[in-house]
Amino acid sequence: MDRSDRSRPEPVEVVCPKCRYTEIIYLPKDDLPQCPDCHIQMMISELLDEGKSY
Ligand SMILES: [Zn+2]
Repeated sequence: MDRSDRSRPEPVEVVCPKCRYTEIIYLPKDDLPQCPDCHIQMMISELLDEGKSY
């Protein structure tokens, strides 16, 4: 078993600061996308992996 999970993509929610459009990307594989409507760079909303009770 390989316990080193460092290269595993992490789901991150990004949001457009202007129109609040949200999208899920995977870091560090993906770059921060641009909003398809506003054509500005979206920002990270929250880490989806955190704060969940498994
Ligand atoms: Zn937008």
